[in-house]
Amino acid sequence: MRTIPHWMNGQEVEPTSGNFGPVFNPATGEQQAQVGLASLAEMNSAVAVAKAAFPAWRSTSLSRKSEILFRFRELVVAHRDEIAQLVSIEHGKVPSDAAGELARGIENIEFSCGIPTHMKGGFSEQVSGGIDVYSIKQPLGVVAGITPFNFPAMVPLWMFTNAIATGNTFILKPSEKDPSVTLLMARLLKEAGLPDGVFNVVQGDKVAVDAILNHPDIEAVSFVGSTPIAKYIYTTGTANGKRIQALGGAKNHMVVLPDADINMAADACVSAGFGSAGERCMAISVVVAVGNIADPLIEAISARLPALKVGPGTDPINEMGPLITGEHRDKVASFIAGAAGEGATVVVDGREGSLPEKGYFLNPSLIDHVQPGMKVYDEEIFGPVLSVIRVDTYDEAVTLINEHQYGNGTAIFTRDGGAARQFQFDIQVGMVGINVPIPVPVGYYSFGGWKSSLFGDANIYGPAGIEFYTRTKTVTSRWPDPSTSSVDLGFPQTR
Ligand code: NAD
Repeated sequence: MRTIPHWMNGQEVEPTSGNFGPVFNPATGEQQAQVGLASLAEMNSAVAVAKAAFPAWRSTSLSRKSEILFRFRELVVAHRDEIAQLVSIEHGKVPSDAAGELARGIENIEFSCGIPTHMKGGFSEQVSGGIDVYSIKQPLGVVAGITPFNFPAMVPLWMFTNAIATGNTFILKPSEKDPSVTLLMARLLKEAGLPDGVFNVVQGDKVAVDAILNHPDIEAVSFVGSTPIAKYIYTTGTANGKRIQALGGAKNHMVVLPDADINMAADACVSAGFGSAGERCMAISVVVAVGNIADPLIEAISARLPALKVGPGTDPINEMGPLITGEHRDKVASFIAGAAGEGATVVVDGREGSLPEKGYFLNPSLIDHVQPGMKVYDEEIFGPVLSVIRVDTYDEAVTLINEHQYGNGTAIFTRDGGAARQFQFDIQVGMVGINVPIPVPVGYYSFGGWKSSLFGDANIYGPAGIEFYTRTKTVTSRWPDPSTSSVDLGFPQTR
C-alpha cells in the first residue's frame, strides 16, 4: 500500500507515528493509499523546522518573495492537468471541476505576487515639530492552516500564498481524505525557489490539529471546515492566545423573484446545487421561490435533472462525481429518506435511477414544500440535494434567510434592480450574488460568511489575508536636534 508522507524542510518525510488513515478512490470505493497521521512529536519537529526558517525568510526582500511567487504561479499553470487529475482521483470531482477549483486558487497566487504593494505601510510627516510617524506590517512567525476535503487545492492556496508572501513560515494540515495534492504544491514551491522550511505539510487528524492549537510557537491558525470543528478551533486557539480565523459550514439560499428569467434561474439552480455533487460551501442548497414562480421553476429544474451525467471523473462525459466517502453518501441519503416523513415532497429521489455499481454515488435530489424546523432545511447536508421553500413575498424570503443559523452565501434572481439592491442591503449573509449563483469573491477581494459560517472577525484571502498574517508596528521618530531638547514630564502632545 502506497504511503503518503509529510513534507518538512524541503523534502518528503516518512511518517513515524505508526498511525495511518485510508485514502479511497471515491469513484470505485477502493483504498488507493494510506496517509500517515502525525503524532505530537512529528508536529513538534515540523514547527521547529518552520521556526528555524523564519528569520531568514522574514529578511528576504519583497522583490525576491514576489519573484518566487511569480515562478510558482507559472509552475502551477504548467502542471494544471496533473493537479486536476490528482484532485479528481482522491476527491472524486470531475477533472473539469478540479481545473475550475485550481483556476480560482491561482487567483490567490497572483494576488500574493503583488506583495511589495500589499506590504506598504503609512507615513505622516511632521506630526509635531521634527517628528514623523509611520506604520509597518510585519509577519507573525510560524502560522498554520487546517483545510477541508472539498477543495484540496484551492483552500490551501487561500491560506499559504499570503501567509508566506507576508514573510511567515507555514504548516499545512490538509484533509486526511485527499492529501496528495499538497505534496505536489510543496515540490513546485521548492522548484520555484522557496527556501526549505518555509512551507511544510504535516498529514494528520485531530491529534495533529490539537498539536497545532496547543503549540506555543504557532502564532496564528487559519481553518476551513465544518461549523462544530470551526467553533472548537476558534475557542481553543483563542484561549491559547492565538490569532484565529475559522470558516465553517453553510446553507445557501437562492431567492427567485416572480420576474426572474425562469430558464436562467433553473440553469443556475442545477449548476450551483449539483456541481461537485453539492460538496461546496457555496453550493445553493435551498431555492426560495417567491409567489407564483414556484411551479414553473420546479418544472424547469426537474426537466434538467435526467440529463445530468453522474459517474467517475475518469470518463469525460460525466458532469457529477461521487461523494467523498461511503459514510457521507449514506448520511446524505438519510436526509432524503427523512424528508417525506417531515412533511416535504420528494420530487426527484437521488437514491433512485441508474448509478455505477461501485463507488459512493447518488443522483441529484429535488425536495419541495420544505419548511424551517425540518432537518433537511435546518442542517447542512453537503450533498446533491436541492430543497425548495415556497413563500408569498420578498419580505418572507429575507426573514427566512436572516433567521437561518448559517450566513455564508446567498443569491437573488430578478430583473428588478431596485429589489436586488434592497436585498444586498437587507440580507445578513457575507457573500451575495445578484443573478450570480455562486458569488465566491475574486482573489483581490476577501471571502467570509456571517453567523455560524465564520468564527473570528477575519475574512480569508485578498486584503483581509494580508491583515490576518501581519501585525502593525507604529514608529514615532525624531532625529537629533539638540536645540529643541528639554525636560517635559507632561504627556506628549502634538500641538
Ligand atoms: P471537517 O470539519 O470534518 O474537517 C476539516 C478539517 O478539520 C480537516 O483537516 C480535519 O482533519 C479536521 N478535523 C476533523 N475533525 C476534527 C476534530 N474532531 N478535531 C480537530 N480537527 C478535526 O470538514 P470537511 O468534512 O473536511 O469539509 C466539509 C465542511 O467544510 C463543510 O461543512 C463545508 O461547508 C465546510 N467548508 C467551508 C468553507 C468556507 O469557506 N466556509 C469552505 C469549504 C468547506
